[in-house]
Amino acid sequence: IKKIGILTSGGDAPGMNPAIRAVVRTCLANGIEVYGIYDGYAGLHADKIVKLERRSVSDVINRGGTFLGTARFPEFKEEQVRREAIQNLEKHGIEALVVVGGDGSYMGAKKLSEMGYPCIGVPGTIDNDIAGTDYTIGFMTCLNTIVDAVDRLRDTSSSHNRISIVEIMGRYCGDLTLWASVAGGSEYVIVPEKDFCEEALLAQLADGEAKGKKHAIIAITEHVTDVNALAKRIEEQTGRETRATILGHIQRGGAPMAFDRVLASRMGVFSVELLMKGESARCIGIQNGKMVHHDIIHCLEDMKRPFREDLFELSNVLF
Ligand code: ADP
Repeated sequence: IKKIGILTSGGDAPGMNPAIRAVVRTCLANGIEVYGIYDGYAGLHADKIVKLERRSVSDVINRGGTFLGTARFPEFKEEQVRREAIQNLEKHGIEALVVVGGDGSYMGAKKLSEMGYPCIGVPGTIDNDIAGTDYTIGFMTCLNTIVDAVDRLRDTSSSHNRISIVEIMGRYCGDLTLWASVAGGSEYVIVPEKDFCEEALLAQLADGEAKGKKHAIIAITEHVTDVNALAKRIEEQTGRETRATILGHIQRGGAPMAFDRVLASRMGVFSVELLMKGESARCIGIQNGKMVHHDIIHCLEDMKRPFREDLFELSNVLF
């Protein structure tokens, strides 16, 4: 293989930059030219393709976000649009593509692979919602940002004897919420994988108050319910001041933690190694500390992420 392209797509995640850097440096170390595609699939279609050199990835290992940019580009679901994208790649002589992104981006990579264009998926998303990997790039950094925010809420909630609801990202995956709940010592955790029962929540709050707790933190994943409306109902039921905080986009930013830098570096190197072996339509993961790869179609269609029941139990026991 002589020329490889790389793009980042979907939601940005801290650690995408170190992943790009690893792909670029591994390619160059093996005499392979590497091309950066700006703004995800949108840039692929618009031919925003630039050759990258060693220096192109200088001083990016510690930077959050992705210097290549990312975009949502629903048009990529159209076969004709993808055909035009492949033509752009072929025009530059690029023989294979590394896609760093979430499951939406994987869908795009899967479809390109089905059209005969070699792709490798690298899991870059804060949500940790991709099957076949224990961790996605960006998850740990985002988790740390959330725990930091929860710590701050704890200080103020406890001073005011207040109940705080914290809405956490994750799309339809409760991992960020679950881990943040254990690490932040929240009183109650609500995740999409488990039915939410408001009576049980109220009972646990009463239980906590009886134990002498001065505050309560409720960690909840986005999209489960309207957190402001929930806060109002809790306030009415308990007579205690209750506030909802939606952490929002601050969760995505910031320098990648060492864990994500190492993970991204390993995955970036591994993706190029797979392409050099002639592999295609694979997605990369880390399982039990080791680099693994799976069929991207199988990953998207049949594999499921196991829910961490153990952490869920833990957060309920430790409250
Ligand atoms: P993420 O990759 O973080 O899950 P999205 O779901 O927004 O983010 O997907 C990123 C991009 O991947 C989309 O904007 C689109 O360009 C492409 N994509 C998503 N789903 C498909 C699909 N079914 N077919 C082709 N491309 C897709």
